[in-house]
Amino acid sequence: MEEDYLIRALAKETGVRALICVTTQTAREGAQRHGAAATPAAALGRALTAGALMGALLKIQQRVALKFEGNGPLRKLVVESNSYGKVRGYVLEPTADVPLRRDEPDVAQALGAAGLLTVVKDLRLKELAESVVPLATSDIAGDLEAYLVQSEQVPSLVQIGVRLNPAGEIAAAGGLLLQSMPPHEADSLTPFREQLQELPPIDNMLLTGQRPESILQEIFGSTPYTILEKRPLIFRCACSWERGEKALVSLGRAELAELLEEEGEAVVECHFCHEQYIYDQAALTALLQRLAS
Ligand SMILES: [Zn+2]
Repeated sequence: MEEDYLIRALAKETGVRALICVTTQTAREGAQRHGAAATPAAALGRALTAGALMGALLKIQQRVALKFEGNGPLRKLVVESNSYGKVRGYVLEPTADVPLRRDEPDVAQALGAAGLLTVVKDLRLKELAESVVPLATSDIAGDLEAYLVQSEQVPSLVQIGVRLNPAGEIAAAGGLLLQSMPPHEADSLTPFREQLQELPPIDNMLLTGQRPESILQEIFGSTPYTILEKRPLIFRCACSWERGEKALVSLGRAELAELLEEEGEAVVECHFCHEQYIYDQAALTALLQRLAS
């Protein structure tokens, strides 16, 4: 199976930049790690794809987090990504499935109409940059597009799709982001928006074997453009045994000693990737000794 990746292209004369990605493996890994049912898996796959697109807009060493909170059964989707194509994320209620709608996962229903999208950027400055906007469509793509247009004030067009197979597993996932670059106006996106309406959804195109390069070619048609970059994307978490230890240390000595005495072990579970780190008696004793010295 081919690895996930993202391409970045620029149509200089038209003033439009394009990011197109395939995220099938990333979405699959997210769904597997969290044991997600069909619709939560599709929702998480879409959110991870949104994270991958936002990560590609960052400069080196920067990070971005997207938090989609709604009043539907999924309650919350959180994804983080960085400038190196590493994405991680979780859905708060991975087993809260909702029925398919016309054979499609109904992500908007599952996330719920009323809610917020919070975007937090770590731009390596003193403060994190945070913006909060109401959920526009609750389908992830529409929410990301509304955020980019309203909050970042960049004319943008977002499409994200996750296709499930009959068993409810992820068959294909991907997304695209077109942005109009200053001084070009929002209407420079109009021909591409119209062209996209003529094409099948991106997940369908990926499912039939198209790659980001050929999808880009179909969208841009006769418009001249240059592919500037192709970068790998991967579901990758920053958690580790050492970070788990830090979390335990932050409980304080008394609580740690109590854990050792009553449970004989401690389990630290990562929200983002569902990895479990188990600290047995010897590991906890060593941690307590380190705290004492
Ligand atoms: Zn993790």
